Amino acid sequence: MSQNSGVIDENVICNCGNSCNLRTSRTVNNSGRRFFGCKMPKDKGECGYFRWIDPSPEVELLKEKLKEVEEERDTLKHKMKELGGKFDSLKQKLKEIKQESDCAKVKFNRLVVVLLCLLLAKISFG
Ligand SMILES: [Zn+2]
Repeated sequence: MSQNSGVIDENVICNCGNSCNLRTSRTVNNSGRRFFGCKMPKDKGECGYFRWIDPSPEVELLKEKLKEVEEERDTLKHKMKELGGKFDSLKQKLKEIKQESDCAKVKFNRLVVVLLCLLLAKISFG
């Protein structure tokens, strides 16, 4: 479906049973946009058939914006993942530091006990 490529070889029949003319919009909002419409004049009871051929410029703009937003979302997702990884590695480091600190505490406590023993021994045996 390449609606934008020049030639439309579609035979569109409107509700009156006539084949429609391919026309080009001249309104500000849809300038240059092609459409099929009933070719009967209004005062001769046209059926009101109407169908755009080219996509709406507004829709195209929205599609483009959506794409940008989606790209931004993907970038953010990627960054979140990266940050998540960094956070995990920081958590791991913190855990290691805590273990080291616990280990140091145990060593310190042992040292205190040894010193206390020495002190007791000195008091007891002069
Ligand atoms: Zn018609």
